[in-house]
Amino acid sequence: MTKTLAPGAMIGIIGGGQLGRMMALAAKAMGDRIAVLDPNEKGPCAQVADDIFASQYNDQEAAVKLAEKSDVVTYEFENIDTPVLEKLITKSYVPQGSFPLSVSQHRLREKEAFKEVGAQVVPYRPVSSRADIDEALQEWHSAAVLKTCSGGYDGKGQRVIKTKQEAKRAWEDLCDKGDLILEKFVSLKKELSVVATRNTHGEMSVFPLAENEHRNNVLHCTIAPARVSEKIALEAEEIARNVAKAWDVVGTFAIEFFLDENDRLYVNEWAPRPHNSGHYTIEACETSQFAQHIRAVTGRPLGSPRLLRPAVMINILGEHVPGVNASYERIGNKGHIHFYGKDEAKVGRKMGHITFLGETVEEAIQKSEPAQQIWQ
Ligand code: ADP
Ligand code: MG
Repeated sequence: MTKTLAPGAMIGIIGGGQLGRMMALAAKAMGDRIAVLDPNEKGPCAQVADDIFASQYNDQEAAVKLAEKSDVVTYEFENIDTPVLEKLITKSYVPQGSFPLSVSQHRLREKEAFKEVGAQVVPYRPVSSRADIDEALQEWHSAAVLKTCSGGYDGKGQRVIKTKQEAKRAWEDLCDKGDLILEKFVSLKKELSVVATRNTHGEMSVFPLAENEHRNNVLHCTIAPARVSEKIALEAEEIARNVAKAWDVVGTFAIEFFLDENDRLYVNEWAPRPHNSGHYTIEACETSQFAQHIRAVTGRPLGSPRLLRPAVMINILGEHVPGVNASYERIGNKGHIHFYGKDEAKVGRKMGHITFLGETVEEAIQKSEPAQQIWQ
C-alpha cells in the first residue's frame, strides 16, 4: 500500500548524522516535521528535529516509538539491524522496505545482485582461507583488495595486496572480522557515481553522473558533470534505472563505479540513501538529492534533477576546519560552505562541505582552488 502524504507529515529518520540533517532541512522546507532516532541527542539531525528518540539504532523499542510518532519512516544509515527494520515494516509505513538495505549490508550479496541485473562488477571471490587469496592472486596476475563483507566504510576493513607478504598480513588483520571478499585491483582511470531517486509510485529521476576523487579512501571531491563520454554517462544511468526497477527501490540512492583504463565501467558498491557525492545537487541542481528523497518516500511528485550549473564539491574533514575558518572570507564569497553542527573536529571526521559553481566545469574547478590549497 503506497501513501501520498500531504505537507506537514511527520517523517521519522533512523540515524542522526549529516545525511539525516540535510534530509530534515529539505523536509522542513516542504512544511514537514522530523522525528529522529540517534544515540546523540545533540547530533546533526537532532539539532533540527521536532522529536528526538535518543537511543541506539538496534533498540527495537525506541525504533517502534519513533515509528508510532511518524507518518513514514526512512533511514540515513545502512547498518540498521534487519530484525529492527522487519519489526518496523510490520508495524508502520516504511516504503523503502528491507531488500535494498540488505543488499548494501553484504558485499558478496551486493555483487551477486548487481550481476543479476546485468551490471558488470570487478572479478571477485569469497575468501575463507589464506590459500584462497594466493590462488586468486595467481589466477588474476594482479594486485587485489581484501575487504570485510559487512560494516566497512571510508576504506575501513580493507587491505590492498600486492605481494605474498602483504597477503599474509592482510589475512592476519581481517581473518576474524566476519565474511571476507577478495576483489581484483582495478587500475582506475576515474571513479564515478550516479545518484538517482524513485518514488513510491515508480516515478524515477537521475542526477547527472559525477566524478569522485578519493584521498586515503575517503571522498575528497566531486565534480559534476563527470568528464566522460555520453556513452559512459548513459550506461551508468541505465544501470541505475534497471536496479531501481528490479529491486523496487524507493528513495534516493547512489551507485559508485570504477572506470578502468579501457573505459570499462564496473559497479563498485551502492548505497540505499542520499550520498556524499550527491551533495553538489543542493546548489547545482533544480532539486536536491535530499528534497528528492523526501518527495519519494512521501509519494509526492519528483522534481527535476536538471543540472543548473557545473559544480565542484569538497569535503571538510576535521583536520581542515582550522584552515577553512582561517580563509572563510576568501572562500566564502566563491563557494557555499556547509557545516553539519558536529561538536568535535576529529581527524578524518566529515564536518561539512563546500560547493563551488561555475559556468563551466573548468571555472568551478578554478574557483575551488583556494579551498584545494587547504587540503594540500
Ligand atoms: P567503502 O565502503 O569504504 O567506500 P569501497 O569498496 O568503495 O569501500 O572502497 C573505497 C575506495 O577504495 C574506493 O573508492 C577506491 O578508491 C578504492 N578501491 C576499493 N576497491 C578497489 C578495487 N577493487 N580496485 C581499485 N581500487 C579500489
Ligand atoms: Mg565506497
